[in-house]
Amino acid sequence: MGFFKDMIAVFQKKELKFLEYRKEADDVYSFMFEKPNDLSWNAGQYGLFTITHKSIKNNTRPLSIASAPEENVIRITTRISDSPSDYKKALLELKQGMTIKMGGPIGKFSLDDSSPSLLIAGGIGITPFRSILKQVAGGGNSARPIHLLYMDRHLFKDELDAMAEQGVLTVTYVSSRDALEQEIDQFAAQHKTSGNYYVAGPKSLVDSISSYMNKHNVPKQRVKKDAFFGY
Ligand SMILES: Cc1cc2nc3c(=O)[nH]c(=O)nc-3n(C[C@H](O)[C@H](O)[C@H](O)COP(=O)(O)OP(=O)(O)OC[C@H]3O[C@@H](n4cnc5c(N)ncnc54)[C@H](O)[C@@H]3O)c2cc1C
Repeated sequence: MGFFKDMIAVFQKKELKFLEYRKEADDVYSFMFEKPNDLSWNAGQYGLFTITHKSIKNNTRPLSIASAPEENVIRITTRISDSPSDYKKALLELKQGMTIKMGGPIGKFSLDDSSPSLLIAGGIGITPFRSILKQVAGGGNSARPIHLLYMDRHLFKDELDAMAEQGVLTVTYVSSRDALEQEIDQFAAQHKTSGNYYVAGPKSLVDSISSYMNKHNVPKQRVKKDAFFGY
């Protein structure tokens, strides 16, 4: 059922009007688009975003929707290096009022509010979690407790820290793989098999963290993954 729903959403592309972009870090930008009235998504889902204002090869990328539906804006946040792809160059050329297309929303990377949750983000993998946490902060989901482990970068740090102060989550910024594994072990020991685990980020990182958890008796069915290929 979910697969067919996703497929229909992919083909019903929506036109999104560009509003503005914001620099989040030296090489990370958020792009905001007007939210059409007839478009909604589950926090944590992604869209297929297509460049239409110029002709480029490979004009579509899957990108997480980094905003919660309640924010009333579609936000994508992406890494743009010194030698960007044609796709990323085209994103940077957007001017207010220009449009792109979005297929979707797609995916099942959403929070199950019945259990303690450990969110594990690697770098740019914070994007689906920003959406999920903003939704929880807005009262849209009662899941508790939520602990976020954030490795490699500190994107959205001010927002994450503010939500932590509100009691939405606890957050640990980890700087090494060892520290990350220790935190995972601690959560697993505390919540035994009742916890849920969510991992998002570059595919290689998601695969290796999942395999670590697998070897350390975290039940596979308790782990949800959002693997970003292309990094
Ligand atoms: C579900 C999902 C959510 C994502 N969310 C985000 C997000 O929120 N923010 C974000 O920045 N990125 C996200 N990504 C990754 C994004 O789609 C791009 O791949 C990434 O941003 C790199 O794009 P690029 O244009 O810079 O580089 P690209 O031109 O896409 O190339 C980067 C490298 O990846 C390789 N590559 C390209 N396509 C594929 C493929 N299909 N399979 C394997 N290798 C490939 C290329 O050969 C190249 O070496 C997500 C990916 C997925 C699957």
